[in-house]
Amino acid sequence: MDARALESEATSAISGSSSLEELEAARIRFLGRKSELSQALRDVRDRETGQLLNPIKAHLEQAVEERKNALERAELDRKLAEEAVDVTLPGEEHPVGSLHPTTHIRRLVEDAFLGLGYEIVDDREVETVHYNFDQLAFPPAHPTRSPRDTFFIDPFFIDPARLLRTETSPSQIHVMEAKKPPIYMVSIGRVYRRDEITPTRFPIFHQFEGLAVDRGITLADLKGTLLHVMKVLFGEDRQVRFRTHYFPFTEPSIEPDVSCPNCDFKGCRMCKFTGWIELGGAGMVDPAVFENVGLDPEEWSGFAFGCGLERAAQLRYDITEIRPFWENDLRVLRQF
Ligand SMILES: [Zn+2]
Repeated sequence: MDARALESEATSAISGSSSLEELEAARIRFLGRKSELSQALRDVRDRETGQLLNPIKAHLEQAVEERKNALERAELDRKLAEEAVDVTLPGEEHPVGSLHPTTHIRRLVEDAFLGLGYEIVDDREVETVHYNFDQLAFPPAHPTRSPRDTFFIDPFFIDPARLLRTETSPSQIHVMEAKKPPIYMVSIGRVYRRDEITPTRFPIFHQFEGLAVDRGITLADLKGTLLHVMKVLFGEDRQVRFRTHYFPFTEPSIEPDVSCPNCDFKGCRMCKFTGWIELGGAGMVDPAVFENVGLDPEEWSGFAFGCGLERAAQLRYDITEIRPFWENDLRVLRQF
C-alpha cells in the first residue's frame, strides 16, 4: 500500500463530496472498518509503520469532520433562503362580491321611505284574481285580466284562479285588511307580465309601490313624496314632471316622468326621443278601493304610487337596456 497516494486520494474524495451522503460514502470507503487503512493499521507490527499511518488516519478524520461542518452550514443556509418569508410581497387576493344594481336601488328606496316613516313589505308573489284585480277595482273587461297579458297558474275560469301578481298593489289590500289607518307602507318585490323582451321590458321585474292612508291626504302630499324620492334616487339635478293618466285603482291618476339621464333632452332611444322617461304611475286612492276593504271614503283619503326598480336602476346608472339585469353576466355585474 502506498500510504501517501491513499492519503491524497482520500483527501480529494472528502473535500470533493458535495453532499452529506457522498461524504459518508467516502468516510466508509477510506476510514471504515473494512477500509484499506483500517486493515493496514490492524496489521501494524513495527513502530515506523504506526508512526506513518496513525497521523494519516487522524488527518483524514479531521478532514471528514470539517467537510461535514461545511456541508451542514451550506444546507442550513439553503433552507433558510428557501423558506424565507418576504413580507413585502403582495397578499393573496380574495375576490369580493358586489351588490346587484337592483339591490342597490332597492336599498336606496327602502332608506328613502323608512326615513319618511313608511314600513317596507315584501308580500306573496302568487295571488288570486280577487286580490290582484277585483279588490283593486280593475274593470271586468280590463285587458290585464287576460291570460294573454298575465301568467295564470290555474285556468282562469277556475275560482279562485291563482296567478303571478302583475303588480305589488295586492300587498296594499292585505295591509288595509289587516290594520286600521293611518297606513304608510311601501311594498317591494317581483312582478310578472307576459311582455315581449325589449330594451325596456322584461316579463319579470321588480316594483316598488307606496300607499299612504290617513285623514286629509291631498294630491300635494303625493307630489311632495314622489319628488323627495325621485331626488334621492336620481339626484337634485334631475327634473320631474307629472302628467295626468288613468289607472283603475286611483282617481285622479298621474304619471311621474324623470328627465332622461342619457341624452339631456337631445333625444335618444332610451327616452324614445322625448327627453323624458316614464317612471310609473301614481294617484289618489279610488273611493271604490276603500269601500272594498271596509274603509269609509268620507273619512279616509290616501295616495298610491308604483315604479319599476329596474327602470329606476337604468336611469340612475345610465344603462340603456333592462336585459342585463336578468342575465347575471358577471362582466356586467362586477361594474357595480
Ligand atoms: Zn334620452
